[in-house]
Amino acid sequence: MKRHNFSAGPCILPKEVLLKASEAILDFDNGLSLIEISHRSKSFVDVMEKGRALALELLGLEGKGYKALFLQGGASTQFMMVALNLLEKRAGYLNTGTWSDKAIKEARIYDDIYEVASSKDANFNFIPKSYDIPSDYDYFHCTSNNTIYGTQMNSFPDCDIPMVCDMSSDIFSRKLDFTKFDLIYAGAQKNIGPAGTTLVVVREDILGKVSRKIPSIMDYKVQISSGSMFNTPPVFAVYTSMLNLEWLKNLGGIAAIEKENNKKAQLIYSEIDLNPLFKGYAMKDDRSKMNATFNLTNDNLKETFETMLKEEGINGLSGHRSVGGYRASMYNALPLDSVGVLVDIMSDLERKA
Ligand code: PMP
Repeated sequence: MKRHNFSAGPCILPKEVLLKASEAILDFDNGLSLIEISHRSKSFVDVMEKGRALALELLGLEGKGYKALFLQGGASTQFMMVALNLLEKRAGYLNTGTWSDKAIKEARIYDDIYEVASSKDANFNFIPKSYDIPSDYDYFHCTSNNTIYGTQMNSFPDCDIPMVCDMSSDIFSRKLDFTKFDLIYAGAQKNIGPAGTTLVVVREDILGKVSRKIPSIMDYKVQISSGSMFNTPPVFAVYTSMLNLEWLKNLGGIAAIEKENNKKAQLIYSEIDLNPLFKGYAMKDDRSKMNATFNLTNDNLKETFETMLKEEGINGLSGHRSVGGYRASMYNALPLDSVGVLVDIMSDLERKA
């Protein structure tokens, strides 16, 4: 049976990337496996450099003073690392969900954090729009896509202090003026590659301004000067991410995938809006094109709907426990056809009910 993988992350990756990655496990460099050679060998250093360069190229940030790093510890480590490297007195955070909340909690260990706005009272079903970002703060932090709630920022504030963005669940999915951001981070396990590495893209001139001592491995400047190899990098995750970025480039880059992502989002949201058996969770203006969250309007149909999903090979549609219902994660590698199969099931349910 063909499976349709709507998993929220780790998530679907292109078949050709999986094939190439699996070949490299057996034979990457003249009969040696990718995971048994030195990370300092020329063949792996070339992979790391290519991955870093591809990330900057796809984001349109080449030659603009940015460096890309493949680090470890997931996006969750960035919650602390951002604060260690940039927080001197006070920073402003936009609280749009669990992950922003966690970023705030970790940064508060080091200094003062001000929530510029929050949608917590509405269980994060929208993105706050009007707020001020004081110009004497060290930086402003936001989360571009809220994986759990299915909301996404459609616009970003103009701010005259560094802007830091957690783009874990929508990086490389849509065109943005990425020069607006001074630091972007993203756990790999959605649109980048397998879990195990985190992409950090940072404008070098915002670094080196805090007075605290930063442990070497947590210091972006140290990571940059060691070529993203301060310690042994997660070679498999970095290699597979490089292959996936290459796949995206060959497809036509972010502009090309954005068109596909728009079609997928259009398809699922029009079904959610037309079919009386379903109700979207996020406010319409703030709906995410990566994670569509919705509920059944009649709980008695739960078993029938879930049996139909199973019969058609739909995987990973359960909503996060803090929202319930369903969440269709439609990352870059998910084909439009898979969304078509899901939408057919939803309209079949309406016919049957
Ligand atoms: N930020 C966002 C927006 C996420 O979706 C996630 C995980 N899904 C995280 C941060 C945490 O990432 P990690 O598990 O890599 O620490």
